Amino acid sequence: MGIEDNSIEFRMESDRYTGNPADYIDDAAGYEALLQNLAEGDGGGGGRRGAPPAAKSAIEALETFQVTSSEGETIMVCAVCKDGMVMGETGKKLPCGHCYHGDCIVPWLGTRNSCPVCRFQLQTDDAEYEEERKKRTSTLSDSATASSSSSSASRH
Ligand SMILES: [Zn+2]
Ligand SMILES: [Zn+2]
Repeated sequence: MGIEDNSIEFRMESDRYTGNPADYIDDAAGYEALLQNLAEGDGGGGGRRGAPPAAKSAIEALETFQVTSSEGETIMVCAVCKDGMVMGETGKKLPCGHCYHGDCIVPWLGTRNSCPVCRFQLQTDDAEYEEERKKRTSTLSDSATASSSSSSASRH
């Protein structure tokens, strides 16, 4: 009996948030995914079937936090399940700053290594993939970085 009451309350609450962050995130993710696909199709190497899962250690190293109530503030939306993060739930924060339910992002990272929203790539256990990624990111950072490149980190 009391349980039903709770779920109704939750539904009402999530109503308040419709039309904002979820749509935006969805859009951005779709766009990024498209770019990613294009880039991968273009680069064409062998028959690698997409990204490997994130390294177990990388998943374990994610910052865990408890979702706290924040009335009147922007609620965090988990981009995996598209649901708001409810007080008392356990969330995980990726190094890129995006937050998800622990129960959503951990299985996600078990099949691929990238943030669902911004495609930030976590470390993997796949040495070959890591090599490729290093090459790719160094090409990317030529155009993207310049602002805050670490001063002395690139000596050989
Ligand atoms: Zn979720
Ligand atoms: Zn992210």
